Order: sequence, then C-alpha cells, then structure tokens
Amino acid sequence: MKKKCSVSVDLDPIACYYRIHALGTWPAALTDVILKRTVPRYLELFERHEVRATFFIVGSDLAVGGAPAQAARRLVRDMVAAGHEVANHSFTHPYDMARLPRPRVAEEISRAHDEIASAAGVAPIGFRAPGYDLSPVMLDELAARSYLYDSSIFPAPGYYALKAGVMAGLRMVGRKSGAVLTDPRALLAPTDPYRPASRSPWRRGQSPVVELPIAVTPGLRIPAIGTSLLVAPAALRAMALDAMRKRPFFNLEMHGIDLCDADIDGIPSELVARQPDLRASLVHKQRALEATLDRLAPDYDFVPLREIAQQIQRGQPM
Ligand SMILES: [Zn+2]
Repeated sequence: MKKKCSVSVDLDPIACYYRIHALGTWPAALTDVILKRTVPRYLELFERHEVRATFFIVGSDLAVGGAPAQAARRLVRDMVAAGHEVANHSFTHPYDMARLPRPRVAEEISRAHDEIASAAGVAPIGFRAPGYDLSPVMLDELAARSYLYDSSIFPAPGYYALKAGVMAGLRMVGRKSGAVLTDPRALLAPTDPYRPASRSPWRRGQSPVVELPIAVTPGLRIPAIGTSLLVAPAALRAMALDAMRKRPFFNLEMHGIDLCDADIDGIPSELVARQPDLRASLVHKQRALEATLDRLAPDYDFVPLREIAQQIQRGQPM
C-alpha cells in the first residue's frame, strides 16, 4: 500500500510578508495578488498530478467587500469543486495570535470559520496558526468547535534560528519585524501525528484535536517544506524527499507565494530583496514542484489533511 502525503498551501496575503520584513505599507493593488495569481496555478498543477490538497485561507480575504472578495470566494468554490479541502488560517493572520486574549483568539477562529464555510458550502475542520505558533488557548477553541485537527507544529530548530536571525537583524537597524518567535517548546515536539496535551500542545496528551506536524526530516529535522524544496538544488531536494520515506506520513507545506513570479506578478523589488525565493522564476519553481510530485508519486497517494485526521480519529493506523 502507498504511503500518504498531504500537500497544503498557506494563502498568506502579501501584507504578511510586508509585516515580517517591516516594510511598511504594501501597494493596495497587490492586496489580493497571492490569491488571484497563485491559486489558479496551483489548481492547474494539482489537477495534472492528481493531487487533492488542503488550502489554508485567511478569512478576511473573503470578507472585504467588492470584487476582490467575490473573486476570492469563486476561487474557494473552485477548490472545493476540484476535491480540495479548505481550512482555517485565522481571520487576519495576527503573528502574535498566541499572545492575544482568549476572546480575540476565539474571534479570529470563528470569523474565519464562518467566512470559509459560507464561501465553500462546507465547514472547515482543520486549522493552522499564523507563524506556526499554536497555543493551548487556540487548541481549546478548536476543540470547542469540534475541529478534527490542527497542523501548526513545525519542530524545526533551523527555521527557528533563521527567523530569530531576521528579527535580530531588523532590530539592529532600528526596525521591528511583525513576526513573533514561535514558542521554543514546539522545537522538540513529536514529528509525526499525535494527540496533543490540552495545556501543552507540544507534548503528547489526550486532546480531541489531532496535531499533524509540518514535515521535517528524521535526525537533523531539516524543514521539508515547499519554500525550501523549490529553491534547493535538485540533489538536495532528492535527499530531503528520500529521507522523508522513513516517516509514516509526509505533511508537505507550501505557501501561495511559492508560485509567485516577481516580474510577471509585479512584486515590488523591496520585497524581492528580502525574500530570496522570489528571485527564482515561476517556471523554475513550477518545474521544481512538478519534479517533487513526480518523485513522490510512485510511493504516495496525495490526500487532504482532513483525511489523515479522520483516519487517526477513527483509530486506524497510518
Ligand atoms: Zn500563514
């Protein structure tokens, strides 16, 4: 029997990247550039490779009035029609969500939930926290809404070091990153799906919400996520993918921006200067993603995260 791989795409709007790099205001015309430009590319590519994926949606993208929200809601319907899952990535993507008071956390989850359910015609049952920073309060709120899974834990010390470096670099030049350092306890969290402890989701416990951690390789815990796989040299990518075979399940996380082309999509040079993956062309990244899926296809079925969660909730082995 084949193993299972879930490809998920976090549709963080461009505002998120402006906040991380403390770049100030983004051009208004680019507010929905990630959704508008990259979702059709993903849908086309996934169809050719028989991938049923999970899209994590930022709820406010569906709520702001006018044509952009209508277009976004159409894209959500296209996702569902193609067999993909749409899941909850908060309402406004606050990087400090883990530090917000409970009513604000509840509001972030609920408002996104309602917008996504209304656009998709089916209620989301999965959540991913902004900046991978899951908190006990979030887990609690997800359990209260009968969510089946969370997929935020990213036990990658290398990523943590990189993020800390970017934040420290900005501080040195007197600017403040919008990013918030993930709770370091997540670095030692289990790397395969587990039931988290309600008070300490980084450890095993009895929460009704299953945790599906984002892929890191066995041993060194190198992130096996799209953003690094797509710009890595082919040999390195092959090594990371082969290493993942030792895991029972491959949770391959991508971002909308991974299929952005700075030139074609008009991404400002100030952002390209800080986001190295934007320097690779769309064609290069599309080929790298296709090569990734081709290499995995003989050994894996590509299913949405909800199916993994349902399998675990039913008590079936991976
Ligand atoms: Zn995000």
